[in-house]
Amino acid sequence: MSISVSIDALPADLIKDIQRDLFINTVRHAYENSLFYKNRFDDNCVHPSDIKNLEDIKKLPFTGKEDIQKDNWSLLAVPRENISEIVSTTGTTGDPVFIALTANDLERLACNEEKSFGYAGAVKGDVFNIAVTCDNLFIAGIAYYRGLTKLGASVTRLGPQNILRHLDIMKELKPTGIVAVPSFMVQLARRAEEYGVPVKELGIRKIVLIGDSIRDADLTTNALGNLIETAFGKICYSTYGITEAQLSFCECRVHHGLHSHPDLVLTEIVDEDGRLLPDGDEGELVLTPLQLEGMPLIRYRTGDVTFKLSTPCACGRNSARIGPIIGRKQQKLKVKGVTLYPRNIENAILGLQDVINYQIEAYTGDDRTDRIILRIGSHVVNGGFKSVLKDAVLAKARVTPEIEIELPEEIERRLFENGGRKAVTFKDRRQKAI
Ligand SMILES: [Zn+2]
Repeated sequence: MSISVSIDALPADLIKDIQRDLFINTVRHAYENSLFYKNRFDDNCVHPSDIKNLEDIKKLPFTGKEDIQKDNWSLLAVPRENISEIVSTTGTTGDPVFIALTANDLERLACNEEKSFGYAGAVKGDVFNIAVTCDNLFIAGIAYYRGLTKLGASVTRLGPQNILRHLDIMKELKPTGIVAVPSFMVQLARRAEEYGVPVKELGIRKIVLIGDSIRDADLTTNALGNLIETAFGKICYSTYGITEAQLSFCECRVHHGLHSHPDLVLTEIVDEDGRLLPDGDEGELVLTPLQLEGMPLIRYRTGDVTFKLSTPCACGRNSARIGPIIGRKQQKLKVKGVTLYPRNIENAILGLQDVINYQIEAYTGDDRTDRIILRIGSHVVNGGFKSVLKDAVLAKARVTPEIEIELPEEIERRLFENGGRKAVTFKDRRQKAI
């Protein structure tokens, strides 16, 4: 396997030629070696010989997470002894699924991150503090580790725990970059301030963020991103990663969407009926990773909603980009004709003074439409605070939810009442359509 590091600098039509060949190989490999795809293609009366160009992708059926959950190992396309590593999804949306990587898949993963960090301007000589989980079957931390070391940068692998230790190590080792989830960076800034450490003197010049988006749909920085950039400066690079497809998208220095790596993935945006949407239209992100060996995926429905940008980027790269993730498809809310996602409400209240924590709850009203309760954890209970919250949500999310102010401890209990490790900031009690 050879992976070019500069394919995205080629003219768009040459990129398409390379993608076509990789796509045809991907389809053939999936059909010939994965029982799941053999059956799925046969059931849909489609054969790899029907696939001659990129447009033929429309002939192929989608794959959903539920397909993997149903029969995980039927997707395996190599003998078991060729598996180098098994990772899993976090299980935040249903049962976790296991993804098997061969040695070549691990190398592909490293190439993916090597390129992504290159887009963020990382070079040999940089020291990156990896503040995300590097064990527990998570793919991301180790992908960053491999990509950074492949690039020639140095790493410190502290993981997500113990912010004070991060501050100590960062004062001592002076990393020039950090990889973290946005909420970690917000906490880091807060703790640094409490301990009298000026964060701008830590010497961090690049922050690569995974998880929640720090951009709004218009690609400007959202409230979460502003919290980080106010503390650290405008040095953030947003990324989007997905375990099942073993790849990530990342911003370049222009910060105008997240670049795909064209030799590693085909990107589509589809509507609720699976029809392809044009550039700029919001819909579900569908991915066909290229050059995967262990568990190939064809037209994988991610459940994440965004849009595509296919015009050349001002950075000079011709790879297709996606916008920030606007929300999860399943979490789409329709309130009095306004379509929104819980994330729109989160963005409206993040950073507001006196908001300590929150939970958004959706339920079905008597008129069968979606209703929202926004529960805010705060020590301020006066009516003025409620109207500040109401105005902020109306301005950013265009809806007026019911607002309830409770003690932060009560919200904390609600966030973890299911016994999970991850806070449930969106509780969906809506009746499912029959
Ligand atoms: Zn760019």
